[in-house]
This record gives sequence, structure tokens and C-alpha cells, in this order.
Amino acid sequence: MVRTLIAGNWKMNGLNSSLKEVEAIVDRLSGLADGADILLCPPATMIGAMASMAGDRLKVGGQCCHNKTSGAHTGDISAEMLVDAGATYVIVGHSERRDDHAERSAYVKSQAGAALRAGLVPIVCVGEEYAQRKRGETAEVIERIMRKSLPEMPSGGHGLVVAYEPKWAIGTGEIPTMAEIGEVHALIRKVLVDNYGMEGLKMPILYGGSMKPGNAAEILAVADVNGGLIGGASLKADDFMSIYEAAIN
Ligand code: PEP
Repeated sequence: MVRTLIAGNWKMNGLNSSLKEVEAIVDRLSGLADGADILLCPPATMIGAMASMAGDRLKVGGQCCHNKTSGAHTGDISAEMLVDAGATYVIVGHSERRDDHAERSAYVKSQAGAALRAGLVPIVCVGEEYAQRKRGETAEVIERIMRKSLPEMPSGGHGLVVAYEPKWAIGTGEIPTMAEIGEVHALIRKVLVDNYGMEGLKMPILYGGSMKPGNAAEILAVADVNGGLIGGASLKADDFMSIYEAAIN
């Protein structure tokens, strides 16, 4: 059994005034069964404040990290700095980082390795373009990106999460069919087991791409979907918590 993880990615959204959403999430969580893990990944500027009000149940994560511990890398943040601020997870290889910052899979692998070194759980994102899906290349693309992006697991590593995020479904309101999601998640599970042996059976595989309160229950019921990585619908406590409730019911 893999414990479900409902993870929110605030992207470049959120000011201190948005902490009222966190207050509402923590409040609502206190009345709900502890049936799934819940995580928010705000902009790095908010990690400290969010972690200090998150309580025992809500976890806080970063949205990316450098592969080095420290040094002359203006504007970057190391995995150790995220830990210092209160993070326990970090997203690596999100398609927006791959596109906006030319982060290729070899670099994503080194970021995930840096996360594990620092004691963070990396959430490694993989996904195909719409044209690749139309050409029937989805499986080949996902497997190739995974093989290049997955880090070696050090002994004492705190685990790893993979998020399947079809690029064309992010922020668009479009989603693959449930059968298509199931096919890709089964493939991801197979690659995880090839790579990590039995440990690969325990790693959560999240679906990401326009997950909302209205479609969460159906998506979360697909085999090998162990949670969601949620962008837009994680910004409002009501929407995010409706998705969490779908996961525990
Ligand atoms: C994401 O940011 O990873 C994402 C899936 O965004 P959205 O839920 O808005 O599609």
C-alpha cells in the first residue's frame, strides 16, 4: 500500500497575505482523518513562514533546488537551504523549469540527488507534449525522461516521488482519459521497480495536470495513482481541501 500524497504547487504565486489560505487548510485538516499526506510547495520566500504555521500534518516543500550545497550561484537555492527553511520535499524537473530555465534531465537527476543528500524527498516530474501523445510516443518519452532523471538512491534516502504531468494538461483544463492515465502510471511503476527494486513499489506516483475538486475522485481511483500534484486548485484552501477530502474518502 502506498500512502496517498496530495501536493500543491503554488508556482510564482503567493505573498504573505496568502498565508490566510494556509491557516484555513490547517484548521480544516484538524477536523479530518489523517488518511493521506498533504504538502504545499510555495515560493521559496514563503517556506519559512508557512513551515512555522503548518502544524504536524501539513508538510512544506520547495519548487526547485540547485545541485550544489552552496557557492557562487546568484539567485539559486540549495536543497540544504530548503531544509533550513523548514521544507521536507522539493519538486524537481517541473516542465516549467525545464522550459523556462533549460533544466535538462541530467541536471534534474543531479537536483534530485542533491535533495536526497540534504534529506529532502524529491518529486521528479515527467510528462509528454501533446504532439508526442498524438504520434503515439508517450510511453517511449516517459520512459526516456525517467531513465535520465531518476537519481541513485543513497542508503538512508528518505524516498522519492514521481509526478506524471502531461505538459498539455498543465493549467489548461484538459486531462487525459482515465485509461491513458492508468497506462502511464503502470509504466512509471515498472520503471521505478526496474530502477529501485522492491523500494520502487513503495514510491508514490502523482498525477498532475488540471486536477480539480470535480475530477479528483475519478483520477485518484485509477490504479497506481497515489495522489496529485496540483497547481491552480491548490491556491485556494477550499479547492485544495476538497481534493484532499476526495483522497481520504
Ligand atoms: C502543476 O503546476 O504542476 C500543475 C499540475 O498545474 P495545474 O494543476 O494548474 O494544471
